[in-house]
Amino acid sequence: MINRELIKKLNKEKGLSQKEWEQLLGTFNEEDRAYAASIARKISLNRFGNKIFFRGIVEFTNHCKNNCYYCGIRRGNTSASRYRLSKEDIMTCCDEGYKYGYRTFVLQGGEDNYYSDEKIVDIISTIHKKYPDCAVTLSIGEKSRKSYEKFFKAGASRFLLRHETANEKHYEKLHPKELSWKHRMNCLNDLKDIGYQTGCGLMIGSPNQTITNIAEDMIYMGKFNPQMIGIGPFIPHKDTPFKDYPSGSMEMTLFLLSLCRIMLPNVLLPATTALGTVRDDGRKLGVLAGANVIMPNLSPVNVRKKYMLYNNKSVTADDAGENLKLIQKNMQEIGYEIVVDKGDYKEM
Ligand code: SAH
Repeated sequence: MINRELIKKLNKEKGLSQKEWEQLLGTFNEEDRAYAASIARKISLNRFGNKIFFRGIVEFTNHCKNNCYYCGIRRGNTSASRYRLSKEDIMTCCDEGYKYGYRTFVLQGGEDNYYSDEKIVDIISTIHKKYPDCAVTLSIGEKSRKSYEKFFKAGASRFLLRHETANEKHYEKLHPKELSWKHRMNCLNDLKDIGYQTGCGLMIGSPNQTITNIAEDMIYMGKFNPQMIGIGPFIPHKDTPFKDYPSGSMEMTLFLLSLCRIMLPNVLLPATTALGTVRDDGRKLGVLAGANVIMPNLSPVNVRKKYMLYNNKSVTADDAGENLKLIQKNMQEIGYEIVVDKGDYKEM
């Protein structure tokens, strides 16, 4: 009963105290989860109807100078077979996607200095000029404010940078010393300040994560008020220091999606690939929990297996059209439909 009251309170006040979050996240049961999902779904139906936005991800490089303990493309993974896409390759992905109705292109990659600011700017402006009716989203990690400003000017309007954890001590358990939590948080502030629609987010069940940490994440996200939130379960990768840790809980992930939707009604909330990896129908469940975005892969089929952030990352050999048909069918099965729309963040 207490938890139901807390969910109602969250819906009304759009926030909870650290203690209340810990109570809710530490003791919820299936009924609480169903209750939160029903409110979350009502909110998304109200704002977005039964429409789901889809964004095409182009994973343009798996080279990375960082060594995050959880990530399969970390620099220390000598078994990874590395690749880079040229601007022409990237444009081919966008051309393919555009044909099928994609109106957002997400450029994601490791932190790869091969792509200088000038190269990134060139890629962004080429896409932006050819497809002015599309959004260019970046997910390329931590850069200087100056670089972020250049990319914004070139036409990138959204940026995804998961904060990973709102607790500095926990951050240090997920990353080597050379990476700093404060720097990542500053990057997020810069992005928002520059005017990007900004996405933060976290993995559920990352090693050493506690309920207290997730409560801190919820409080942080409530304050930061991002336009997008990426939440997926942690999944181990066999060639990383975290290879022997278990995957994060799907129930907790779904519950958090609902709570994010309730706390930030307008937020663009994807049912992530990681969710679709821990369970075949994970993305459907994500939508039923309040998610309103799906991000299919637009990368060339021959590199998809190489962008392996975690074990068994769901890789389809389908082209953009086939992939989308399948998603369309999945969404129809639960009463939703995908829409050809840029899908910018809107305050309502
Ligand atoms: N280099 C970019 C993109 C990182 S990949 C950046 O730093 O933002 C995008 C996200 O994948 C990461 O932010 C992380 O939250 C997630 N990820 C990485 N390894 C993962 C794993 N083993 N399991 C689940 N998610 C993972």
